[in-house]
Amino acid sequence: MTDEEIYAEDEAHYLPVFARYKIVLDHGDGPYVYDTQGKKYLDYLGGIAVNVLGHNYPALVKAISEQAGKMIHCSNLYYTEVQAKAAEKLSELSKMDKVFFANSGAEANEGAIKLARKYAHLADKDKSQIITAVHSFHGRTIATLTATGQPKYHEGFGPLPNGFSYVDYNDIDQLEKMMSDKTCAVMLEAIQGEGGIHVPDEKYLQQVRKLCDKYNALLIFDEIQCGMGRTGTFFAYEQFGVKADIVTLAKGLAGGVPIGAFMTSNKVAAAFKLGDHGSTFGGNPLACAAANVVLDTIKDDNLMGNAKNVGNYLMGELNKLREKYPALIKEVRGRGLMVGMEINKPGREIVDACLNYGMIINCTAGNVLRFVPPLIINKHHVDELMPVLDRVLATQ
Ligand SMILES: *Cc1c(COP(=O)(O)O)cnc(C)c1O
Repeated sequence: MTDEEIYAEDEAHYLPVFARYKIVLDHGDGPYVYDTQGKKYLDYLGGIAVNVLGHNYPALVKAISEQAGKMIHCSNLYYTEVQAKAAEKLSELSKMDKVFFANSGAEANEGAIKLARKYAHLADKDKSQIITAVHSFHGRTIATLTATGQPKYHEGFGPLPNGFSYVDYNDIDQLEKMMSDKTCAVMLEAIQGEGGIHVPDEKYLQQVRKLCDKYNALLIFDEIQCGMGRTGTFFAYEQFGVKADIVTLAKGLAGGVPIGAFMTSNKVAAAFKLGDHGSTFGGNPLACAAANVVLDTIKDDNLMGNAKNVGNYLMGELNKLREKYPALIKEVRGRGLMVGMEINKPGREIVDACLNYGMIINCTAGNVLRFVPPLIINKHHVDELMPVLDRVLATQ
């Protein structure tokens, strides 16, 4: 098929919910992807923080291929070695007792919300308020879009489930006023992703922890975008010296194979009885085989250290551009390889121009250029990005 035929066929049949760029991707290699015309792109989006090992990572391809040859799927009514191993690894990394596997971020959060509600209801049937942050993003299912503190995601989908309230991120006074004995959980991203890469103040998450303890509410960290070593520690919340009651992962966990997970303590997990939650596909052998390789590689290849070093270098270089274009660039922020550059105008045009020059970046929250590349990139890849960005920004 020609690209034109692919566009036409897709547009005729695929539900148009994505504002797509007119390229057809064909294959990838490390931090690069190639379109059907053979044009090469450096991938600073990584499938939106998914391709943590880049594309076509040999050990990942091998593990998936071997697992596919043995058994792609079996019901969660049976045990598999790959799932037991993946659960053990996540327990160790999170220092939590129990893990549940889902298929996506929204599903992981949905499970976390269900668990928090069940846990709170055992103490008090009216203890159901879930507080989330303005500009948060937690998913697209009815409960998780309600948890998402952005009205544009709610419009037209009511009636939405009850019991969700919103506070400004990083504003502890607002949270304190909102909380009570009826608060079931506070759910936050340790660093906001879709909302525009917002890093909280050093003390904020610790203060949130204290309020949760005071009101016997659970603290849920959505680490779906900021987790998996991207910010320099396995979970971003670790850098703020806090502990969660429930933490969720997805995106990069299986390097591109759909998966989600939540982790929690034995105490909280005990609220779920047999049959209270489940998933047909969640944590199936194919996904878990992939997750095991991703988790091992992050550890063995020190990808967290790499994310921190290369991320610092990237932020330093972006800050040089900010100094060069002070009227255009407002702020560079982030941790490790989760970086945003806020500009004073919509970012779409810049993203388009970068694409033209073989550079895949993304814009979130309208005017924040977002860089969430594979964790395997090195300084040379940053040096490849900078002249392109410079050239594009010069024309703005
Ligand atoms: C992407 C994302 C989600 C939703 O994940 P899906 O796999 O698209 O359902 C939830 N929370 C955060 C922080 C995310 O970045």
